[in-house]
Amino acid sequence: MKPRVGVSACLLGQAVRYDGASRPQAWIRDQLPRYAEIRPFCPEIGAGLAVPRPAVQLVRGDDARIHARCVEDPRLDVTDVLHQWAAMQAGELQVLDGIIFKSRSPSCGLGTTPLFNEKAALLKTNFDGIFAAWVKTNYPELVLCDEVCVEDKQGQELFLARILKEW
Ligand code: SF4
Repeated sequence: MKPRVGVSACLLGQAVRYDGASRPQAWIRDQLPRYAEIRPFCPEIGAGLAVPRPAVQLVRGDDARIHARCVEDPRLDVTDVLHQWAAMQAGELQVLDGIIFKSRSPSCGLGTTPLFNEKAALLKTNFDGIFAAWVKTNYPELVLCDEVCVEDKQGQELFLARILKEW
């Protein structure tokens, strides 16, 4: 049986981004399925958001919580629906061997997402998106990376070795 890999759906060419676009990465879309069963996911679509939708960013609130809020209108806060969707993924995550996340996303970014404060000042550029942070906390045994890590042959071979338990 092939290992199972969750992949941010926009990396597979699915038009699920806030602007109606996708961000396909050729190796993930065309080569990875030779080695792994691909399980696409999009936390924002899963949480009931539409395509297109207002862009969201991560904000450390005055309440010290991390919020996913609309860039243009901070009153639109999708933090809770993203957490609710994440909590419903427990069954799916238990059968995965690894995940490839989309970098810099407020939902999927893995140590690459910008974090702002309430005054829109940039605090960090290496934060985790809401779903990626939840996965890291609850499923530390999963092999996690983003599309940047598998851009070159060395990164691709390392990822395959890890999900195939050869490394
Ligand atoms: S980065 Fe994640 S939340 Fe954003 S469109 Fe891609 S899969 Fe959906």
